Amino acid sequence: MAGSLQTSLGRFADAMPTGSPAPLEAIGILGGTFDPVHCAHLRLALEVRAALRLDSVRLMPAASPRLRAAPEASAEVRMRLLEAALADVCGLEADARELSRPGPTVTADTLEALREELPDVSLCLILGMDAMSRFDAWIDADRIPDLAHIAVAERPGAAALPRNGATANFLRARRCDDLDSIRTAPSGCVFFVRDIPTLDISATRVRSLRARGESIRFLVPDRVHDIIVNEDLYAHQR
Ligand code: ATP
Repeated sequence: MAGSLQTSLGRFADAMPTGSPAPLEAIGILGGTFDPVHCAHLRLALEVRAALRLDSVRLMPAASPRLRAAPEASAEVRMRLLEAALADVCGLEADARELSRPGPTVTADTLEALREELPDVSLCLILGMDAMSRFDAWIDADRIPDLAHIAVAERPGAAALPRNGATANFLRARRCDDLDSIRTAPSGCVFFVRDIPTLDISATRVRSLRARGESIRFLVPDRVHDIIVNEDLYAHQR
């Protein structure tokens, strides 16, 4: 992995803009388990959309995340909750493409499929710091900079990003502070999104409150709350 990330650094120059190309449409991708979607996911998507001036952000639930336990709710339920959460939110969309792919979720494959569909847009993979810290454990992480930019957002309680090693070198080499790069290059840069309000909410906390019979109101959108309560979801200790 370290070697392949290093190799991808060498290709960075090729991905950088030259001349004055027409501004690209910019789409953010927020992957996750969304088990269930909560207010911090939605706030994160809106904040990054505004900070990076993205046209839209797609929230993309994973069928079977490779680096964690299987989700508690089915893909169908997680998607239904996500659609309810986004029903009247401008600029955020639910994207079910990963749920229909068999086997563990590989982000590079997802981005490749998206890239084939949308060859001329700028794609920006949004990651909380916890997800970014585990980047070097991802399958084919070295393919990602050729397919998308990365936006790294702060997350309460997340460990600091590594200072040494392949991920640290990758972040240093790819870091970009010029937001215009998102409109002039389709992929290849890492943006740090700071100074956005952080919310200390996790799906783990939502599930464990439900399992203890306690309220989850205001941690999740009202529509999501009502579906979870009415259908008795996440109500049993696993
Ligand atoms: P779980 O508690 O089950 O691990 P989670 O709350 O971390 O779930 P995920 O669906 O795994 O939610 O997260 C999807 C993405 O959203 C990840 O990139 C994660 O870093 C980010 N994220 C989730 N919660 C927050 C938060 N409170 N602040 C910032 N980023 C967050």
